[in-house]
Amino acid sequence: MNEHDSEIISGMLAARGYTPASAAEVDVVDIVIINTCSIRENADKRFFGTLGQLKKAKTKNPDLAVCVCGCMMQQEQITGKIRRSYPWVDVIFGTHNIHEFPDMLQELYDNRKRKGNRIDNKLRSSKEFRVDRIYEDRREIVEELPANRLFAHKSFVNIMYGCNNFCTYCIVPYTRGREQSRDPENIIREVRDLVIDGVKEVTLLGQNVNSYKGISPESGQWDFTDLIWALSETPGLERIRFMTSHPKDLSDKLIDAFGRCDKLCNYIHLPVQSGSDTVLKRMNRKYDRKSYLELVRKIRQAAPGIAISTDIIVGFPGETEEEFEETLALAQDVRYDSAFTFLYSPRQGTPAAEYEDQIPEDIKHRRFNRLVDIINEGSKSRNAAFVGRTCRVLVDGPARKQSVSEEGKILLNGRTEEFKLVDFAGSEDMIGRIIHVKINDSNTFSLRGEAVND
Ligand code: SF4
Repeated sequence: MNEHDSEIISGMLAARGYTPASAAEVDVVDIVIINTCSIRENADKRFFGTLGQLKKAKTKNPDLAVCVCGCMMQQEQITGKIRRSYPWVDVIFGTHNIHEFPDMLQELYDNRKRKGNRIDNKLRSSKEFRVDRIYEDRREIVEELPANRLFAHKSFVNIMYGCNNFCTYCIVPYTRGREQSRDPENIIREVRDLVIDGVKEVTLLGQNVNSYKGISPESGQWDFTDLIWALSETPGLERIRFMTSHPKDLSDKLIDAFGRCDKLCNYIHLPVQSGSDTVLKRMNRKYDRKSYLELVRKIRQAAPGIAISTDIIVGFPGETEEEFEETLALAQDVRYDSAFTFLYSPRQGTPAAEYEDQIPEDIKHRRFNRLVDIINEGSKSRNAAFVGRTCRVLVDGPARKQSVSEEGKILLNGRTEEFKLVDFAGSEDMIGRIIHVKINDSNTFSLRGEAVND
């Protein structure tokens, strides 16, 4: 979600004539924007560290506009600290008023002009020009914001904003507000325009896409599956993905679509968070181990070969050894294709942060390592099953580590429908196309293959 917000911020600035610069140019650029995430504690620390470093850049380059935004700005204690202790910050905006950023920037320049563009050298302060606007809730869904996409051939598409679930460890409902769905017509139009622009794959975004509720003037209320079927009719669109789905709201109708809708990719991210019913209850997840495993069974029955990934939190307050072992057993049963595993970190303002029985860090780390071993075993065996198969790979670009293969071709990478990362040798003109690749080798995190004729 934050990544897509960054694409929109970048798109709005490009529309006003700005061009992106590298981090190394911080002493000469006009604007620095830090888009923050508040999901994990570590991000807070890195944010304030980066902000501290920008004081030096501001001293060298007093015209620099230092702008901060994202989820962290929706938290009073964070913005209070910035306002008090970081006078070199010029613009502060939140997740609900991203669309106002270009105007806020203009307001900053107008303030500077009016007040003589003077920076108080003693304080290195730009506080007197500062533009600071944060809304508690999204007032309206602003449509048709431009976006500077990371890839020409694939794109994120927001279908809804916010979350109503209030899992006890999560800050998102406080920083992103309550659920609001976009109108289906607007989503369909955006996807159609993206395809005209060369996009082959869209990833539909929402904190809990399963609770999408759109109103179509022609056909009334739409749920998420209705939206997928409608989007699948977009000529030229090859693939539809989505992120993220809450197990408690995953409907049989959507599971059925996995088996029948050709454009819906054979991949689902289904966060389990814990394999223990008692922990799930304390997390306020509103499903239990049995119902989760039943969902996995139904998904695999409807779409054999589908890849399943998940999120798991280790060391949630009060997690006993037995409860943790239930998570290990679940991971072993499901054999995920991949998993994002997290050490629980308390987020100020959430109920779980106040729980008294926090787990010591060393225990969390030991449990984490045991879980990762099991997850990796599962990923390795799921990937090994691809060897010998020919997959359709949407090519993203040159592989990061090595750009030239032994035969002098470029080493490319891309994703299968199952979201498996595939490296193979090819040519530049393959980037952005769907290429058939025969898989020859695999490891825990990726596949390796060779391009074959279509
Ligand atoms: S459903 Fe996801 S975004 Fe919403 S509160 Fe739970 S973890 Fe956070």
